[in-house]
Amino acid sequence: MSLSEIAVQLLDGLNAQLPDSGFRLQGIEVHLGKMVEVDPEHLKAALCAMLPRVEVQITVIDALLKCTDCGAEYPADEHPCPVCGSPHAELCHGADLQIVRAWGETM
Ligand SMILES: [Zn+2]
Repeated sequence: MSLSEIAVQLLDGLNAQLPDSGFRLQGIEVHLGKMVEVDPEHLKAALCAMLPRVEVQITVIDALLKCTDCGAEYPADEHPCPVCGSPHAELCHGADLQIVRAWGETM
């Protein structure tokens, strides 16, 4: 998926939640997981281009693994599991790509 397609998809989801009229969007916050192969600066530029005069904040979410043997959650760069040493883990954070907050004013 291209960057502009990602931006369009994010904004489609947002628009579905906002009132049709009488609302002026002022800012959005996007969570971007580290495992998502999107550059935060490029994503921000794509969103800013589509949302003139709207503040765009990108928060990069660290990748977090969950040990499938002992259940511990730990940062991906500490793999294997620091608690039990198991190499078996699943990704529980880091694939995020969503608008988590939007703010603005009603007119
Ligand atoms: Zn473990």
